[in-house]
Amino acid sequence: MNHKIEKLKNVITNPQKIVITTHRGPDGDAMGSSLALYNLLIKLNHEVNVITPNDYASFLHWLPGNNLVTEYESSRETAEKLVDNADIIFMLDFNHIYRIDGLASNVESSNAFKVLIDHHQDPQENIADLIFSEPTICSTAQLLFQIIDKMDLSYLIDKDIAECIYVGIMTDTGSFKYSSTTSETHNIIARLIKYGARNTVIHDLVYDNYSADRMKLLGYCLNDKLLLFPENKSAIISLTNEELKRFNFKKGDTEGIINYALAIKDTIFAAFIVERDNIVKLSLRSKGEFKVNDIANKYFSGGGHENAAGGISNTNIQETIEKVKEIIIEYKEELNK
Ligand code: 5GP
Ligand code: MN
Repeated sequence: MNHKIEKLKNVITNPQKIVITTHRGPDGDAMGSSLALYNLLIKLNHEVNVITPNDYASFLHWLPGNNLVTEYESSRETAEKLVDNADIIFMLDFNHIYRIDGLASNVESSNAFKVLIDHHQDPQENIADLIFSEPTICSTAQLLFQIIDKMDLSYLIDKDIAECIYVGIMTDTGSFKYSSTTSETHNIIARLIKYGARNTVIHDLVYDNYSADRMKLLGYCLNDKLLLFPENKSAIISLTNEELKRFNFKKGDTEGIINYALAIKDTIFAAFIVERDNIVKLSLRSKGEFKVNDIANKYFSGGGHENAAGGISNTNIQETIEKVKEIIIEYKEELNK
């Protein structure tokens, strides 16, 4: 067992007060890995609380342990107290403290032992006492599985834990199709199914569970809002507050829409721009060598992975669309390589 694994195993040997937190706008990997760890640690008799900065898509609400999650935005005092009293804080699926929003200051000033488990590039220095950062691994959930395995704790993995990990891997690999998917990923998935994960049911719960409004929103995006730049292999989809309202927007409804833009033949770069309250948020996706995390970082105070990144704009939605059009032209040589 290597040094870091041994250290983590020692830290969780005796029952402790533990907080698990993850990034704002938690996705399948954020919630899957957090709740997998939650379900594992309660089996070791720890007192565990999962705290998210804000709420998340309803297609993740079936995850075991979901009902016990504390949401910072709606329960600030409770969340802050839990952080202040924690002996150990796990930070999952993010690499910079600002990704947990208002929770950041309490987490930073806490004396708890902090453990980061993440797969984003370039984690903030000294963000935790123990850092597991593996940018080549497809998901935090897979990394967590490997850590559990190395700590010789895989005997604790039951159906609930297996399903949480399955969701994290499935969502962050686009159902096992992104280039981050390896034979090791499939080996782990095979083991998760053996541990009881209902693979078909999980796909159904996450992907075939849309409201009619969401499907109509998707149709609207593709029919009316898709801007194509075939000469530069790019596409943009954008949605305003008013349009979201028109389709009774619920959290999670816009997730995955960008993938349709990228599914168009010969498109290798797609931007999804959405106005949410007073913020303009961008999701960027690419195929192959074109690195969208560099663009997110350079122009939109964001970051992420080479083929999936995001950020925010400090201009209005129309100006943001124009900015992305300029970026497409600026990068036309790389896009046409
Ligand atoms: P999404 O487009 O699904 O919101 O995010 C895709 C990926 O981009 C996430 O996994 C995350 O790594 C990254 N990302 C999204 N928004 C931000 C942001 O505001 N800041 C940073 N640093 N990364 C982001
Ligand atoms: Mn992730």
